[in-house]
Amino acid sequence: MDKVTYNGMTFVPYITNESIQKRISDIAGRIECEYEGRSPLFLCVLNGAFPFASDLFRAVNLDSEISFIRLKSYEGTCTTGKVKEVLGLTEDIEGRDVIIVEDIVDTGRTVCRLVEDLKAKNPASVRVATLLFKPDAVQSGIVPDYVGFEIPTKFIIGFGLDLDGKARNLRDIYVLEEKN
Ligand code: IMP
Ligand code: MG
Repeated sequence: MDKVTYNGMTFVPYITNESIQKRISDIAGRIECEYEGRSPLFLCVLNGAFPFASDLFRAVNLDSEISFIRLKSYEGTCTTGKVKEVLGLTEDIEGRDVIIVEDIVDTGRTVCRLVEDLKAKNPASVRVATLLFKPDAVQSGIVPDYVGFEIPTKFIIGFGLDLDGKARNLRDIYVLEEKN
């Protein structure tokens, strides 16, 4: 793996695709045990979570389903800053076991809001699977149920994660190079 450059910024190799696949297989094993005999609905949060959701969904050997949602950001009128609205949820999730699939939980605001919105629709359960989690950045008290990797508060790209829309197609994950 070599360094990559986007928008004049250099990123160095951080997590290999091989390690990612290993963690996905571990998480899939846990989900299979914990949802045995049930039919969970995976809810992939676009855009960033699509590679993770694709691999995780196929790794879980259950009678499961997948659907895709988007979160539209807009500036809130109060001090909480960005508020997100759920777009594209066409399924009736009442009584369903929902597993939200996220690429990364940073401050946790996005996923926290999403969990609240989904719970209002009376699902049987809502859990969160995220490939990456920045525990030091979290401001919402949310603890994801399934975590691929806990990482420090650094900016990363690849495997779905973007910098201004670019770099989502990198097979591996890269971190912004620190200048000494
Ligand atoms: P939140 O702060 O947990 O609400 O995360 C908001 C969104 O910020 C995530 O869904 C990602 O799209 C984006 N994000 C957070 N950290 C990173 C990163 O290190 N690289 C790329 N995108 C990120
Ligand atoms: Mg995201």
